[in-house]
Amino acid sequence: MPNLSLRPRAVVAALALALPLGLAACGSSGGEQNTGSGSGSTAAGGIQTVSPGKLTVCTHLSYPPFQFNKDGKVVGFDVDVVDRAAKSMGLTQDVVDIDFEQITTGAVFKAKKCDVAAAGMTITDERKKAVLFSEPYFDATQALIVKKGAGVTDLAALKGKKLGVQTGTTGQEYAKKNASAGFSAVVFEDLPTSLNALKAGRVDATINDNGVLFDFAKQNPDTEVVAEFATGEQYGVAAKKDDPNAQQIITKINESIATSKQDGSYDETYKKWFGTAPGEKSTAAPSSSAG
Ligand code: GLN
Repeated sequence: MPNLSLRPRAVVAALALALPLGLAACGSSGGEQNTGSGSGSTAAGGIQTVSPGKLTVCTHLSYPPFQFNKDGKVVGFDVDVVDRAAKSMGLTQDVVDIDFEQITTGAVFKAKKCDVAAAGMTITDERKKAVLFSEPYFDATQALIVKKGAGVTDLAALKGKKLGVQTGTTGQEYAKKNASAGFSAVVFEDLPTSLNALKAGRVDATINDNGVLFDFAKQNPDTEVVAEFATGEQYGVAAKKDDPNAQQIITKINESIATSKQDGSYDETYKKWFGTAPGEKSTAAPSSSAG
C-alpha cells in the first residue's frame, strides 16, 4: 500500500503522471461531487440553504422504512431519495425531527428550521395551499392493521371498537370521513405509539399508510395488514411556498427523482427498503381489500 500516506490530491497527481491523458482526466474528475460553483450557504446554482453546505431536511420520526433511527443515524427510503438530490446540489443532508403538523402547515419553513421536508408526506390540495411540493416520488394508500386472528377485515367490523389514528395524517382524515362505521378513534402523536397500543391491546386496529404497516407486520408476526383502502396517495418533498430559492431546490429535487427513475437508482433504493421492485406485490400482501 505505498500510496496510503499520500493525500487525495497527490494521488490524483501521481495518476496523471502514470496514465494516458484520457484516463487521467477521468480519474481526477470521478472522485468528487463538485458541481462547480459557490461556497458558504450558497450551493450549486446559487441556491441558499439555512445551514451552509447542508440541505437541512425536516421529518417526523419514526416512520420506518421511510425515516427511522438506526445505529444513531436517520436512515430510510426518503433519506436515500433526498440524499441523491442533496449531492446533486453539492450539499450534505442533515435530518431534523419535528411535529408532523409543523411540516404540513409550512411553519417549519417560515421558522427556517429546514430547507425541505420529507416525511412520507402525501400531496393534498389542502397542504398545497401551505407548502410547495415536488413531483410525486412514491405511491401509497391507507391500510388497516390488527392483531392476527382478530377477525377484523374492514372498518365496519370495528363498530363499537377502538381505531388508532396518527394525528394530522391522511389516515386520520380517512377515519373522520368514515366515522359512520361506528368505531371510536384514538389519536396518537406518531406511528410507533399507535402500533405499540395495538400490540398492547389498547386499540383494536390502527390505520396508517400501507408501506409502514406492511413493514411493521413483517417484523411483528403477531400483527397483520387486513385491508388496503384505495386512497390513491402520492408522497412529495415539500418546501417553502412562493419562494424563488425554495422553488430552485424543488426543481433540483424533481430533476434528481427523474434521473434516478431512468438510471435505475430509484429502483435500487426501492428494493433496498421494500424487498421488491416498484409495482411488484410484496409477499406480505393483505388477505383482503376494501374501500
Ligand atoms: N402519508 C401520511 C400523510 O401524509 C402519513 C405521513 C406520516 O405520518 N409521516 O398524512
